[in-house]
Formats: sequence, structure tokens, C-alpha cells
Amino acid sequence: MELKNTKYYDDQTLKRWIGDDSLNDELATRANKIRREIYGDKVYVRGLIEFSNICKNNCYYCGIRGANKNIARYRLSTEEIIATADLGYDLGYRTIVLQGGEDAYYTDDIFVSIIEEIKGHHPDIAITLSLGERSYESYKRLYIAGADRYLLREETSDKDHYYKLHPRDMSFEARRKALFNLKEIGYQVGGGFMVGSPYQTDDMIIKDLRFLQELEPAMIGIGPYLTQHDTPFRDFSNGSYRKTLRLISILRILFPYALIPSTTSLGTIDPRGREEGLKAGANVLMPNLSPTSVRESYALYDNKICTGEEAAECRACLEVRVKNAGFRIVSARGDVISYNKETRRYN
Ligand code: SAM
Repeated sequence: MELKNTKYYDDQTLKRWIGDDSLNDELATRANKIRREIYGDKVYVRGLIEFSNICKNNCYYCGIRGANKNIARYRLSTEEIIATADLGYDLGYRTIVLQGGEDAYYTDDIFVSIIEEIKGHHPDIAITLSLGERSYESYKRLYIAGADRYLLREETSDKDHYYKLHPRDMSFEARRKALFNLKEIGYQVGGGFMVGSPYQTDDMIIKDLRFLQELEPAMIGIGPYLTQHDTPFRDFSNGSYRKTLRLISILRILFPYALIPSTTSLGTIDPRGREEGLKAGANVLMPNLSPTSVRESYALYDNKICTGEEAAECRACLEVRVKNAGFRIVSARGDVISYNKETRRYN
């Protein structure tokens, strides 16, 4: 495998790093040095709009899986989504993330009009989509309409493990293919996985790292697996907090250039999780912009934080947290460092 932008470490070294809880400080120090050299003390913020919790899929770990009858379903209208993006812009966000379940109501035409309208209001904003799997043609249309980035975690790079986490009507190959399609079209792509998902082993995590080295994504999102009480995985334990932090450091060492978020799930498993994630090597935060009336219903896992605060409060709270951790929030698009804005391509 030719490695252009990622650093190579052999499996034995990775296995030792992933498995040893005493290595957190050492790996964080290395990771921090790298992120400071490349991104300085900058932390990029993305305003997250969770536009729908309606989903056709039945991932065994996820609280908004289609078969869960115990949550109130919602869908934001085009107008609500655009108004929320406008609010985000006024609060200083220069990236808006549209994330939701795989909800067929949102056709390509609807997304095209949302993207064009947001870009029409704010040409200097980046739009990240996280809509799950769609056809090549659909991804292409949304890219042409102005979408810049796409988050689609591979979830696991081990085929058997994939089918322990997902029913057979979902496809391991289709998920991976979608990531390469997105990259080919020109999106800045984000992959990733949950740490401590049921049945995951350290060897599987190494497979994920190798897969990500092949994909060379602009963004890599990881967070601990957290149990949701209405899923088939209700009796499994949460993933490990310390292991997630250690993996953030490992990602920074392997992918010096990457945009790595300190996720809401990390902030949920520990009250200082998001700050510690930044100290471990992350350089992105994705605060929630969604209207407070729907936040409780985007219940991927139990005890999710920030479901009651208004968007402006979230922003103010994060400024303080980031400053206390020794970093600085910047109001910028925050593209991956090798991204060319003219050609809209990276690498
Ligand atoms: N439908 C889109 C997709 O499939 O990519 C986006 C929404 S999906 C809910 C976003 C991410 O939430 C998934 O990629 C998954 O890793 C994460 N997630 C779902 N359930 C989770 C859980 N119980 N614990 C932690 N993360 C979870």
C-alpha cells in the first residue's frame, strides 16, 4: 500500500498502543505536538443540525433505528433547516452539518434546494452532509449543488463484525463503496467507527486504521459506543472512555493532517470528555444547533448531553471549555489543510 499522507506503524505497535491503558499520556503528548505543528491551537466548530430521526435502517446499536417504536419521530421542514443554518451563521459557524436518519422524504430535489439556499445566503459557509448511503448520482448532484463534505463512518472494517452490528439487508461492501464514491466525486470525506461496539476486538480496530489509511479521509470521527435502552444491544456495556482518548491520539499520529472531532458521545461518557478529546489530539467540535424541541428525540444513545440548551448557550459554553483546555475556537470553514478551494479537491 502506498502511503502518501499517513504514517506507517506495524500491527504489533498499533496493538500495543490500542491495548495498553497506561499509554494515554505518552500518546497524547506525541499527538499534541503533531496537531500543534499543523493546526496550532485552533479548534474548528461545526454547527450540527439533526434534521430528521426517521430512518429506514435497523442498525442494532442505534436508538433511531426504524424498528424502535418508543421514540417520537420528527422531521424538520426545508424552512426550519434553512432558518437554523442562518442562526448558526449569525453565531459564527462557518460549517453547517446536516445529519439525519435515512429518510426517503428528503429527495435529491429537496436537498439541492436546501443546499443552494444556504449557499445563496452564505457563500462563505461550508456544508457537510451526513445522510447515510445514497447512489453515486445522488451524491454527485448534491456536490454540484454546493455540498463540500460528507460524513459516513464505515462503522467497522471487519465483514463478520459488520453483520453483527447490522441486519443482512444492509451491505458491508456498499458502505465502503459509498466512501470511495464520495471521495472520487470530490467531497472531503469523513470515515470512522465506534470504540467498544459489541463484539469489537483490537484486531478489528487495526483493520479500521488500515482501511482509513487506504481511504485517506479528510475527517475521522470516533466516539465510544454508548448503549441505548430500546435497541437489541441494550444489555451491552458502553465503550471505554480511556481507550477512545487513546485512539484519538493514535489517529492524530497516523493522520497528522486530519480533522478529528471530539464528539458528543465522548462528552456524554465523561463530563470533561470533549476537553480531554482535544488534549488527546482532536481539533474539531460539533455543537448542536437543532431546535431544542426535537433534540431529545435524536436519541442515538442514552443520556446524550446538551439536549436542553439553546444554540447560543452551547456556543458560549464551548468557548469556555475550549479555552480552559488550552485551545482557541476559530470562526472559519476549517477545511482539511491540503484542500484546494479553487478546484474543490484535496490530495
Ligand atoms: N444515517 C447517517 C449514517 O448512517 O451515517 C447519519 C446518522 S448516524 C445516527 C450517525 C452515527 O451515529 C453513526 O455513524 C454511528 O457511528 C453513531 N451512533 C449510532 N448509534 C450509536 C451509539 N449507540 N453509540 C455511539 N454512536 C452511535
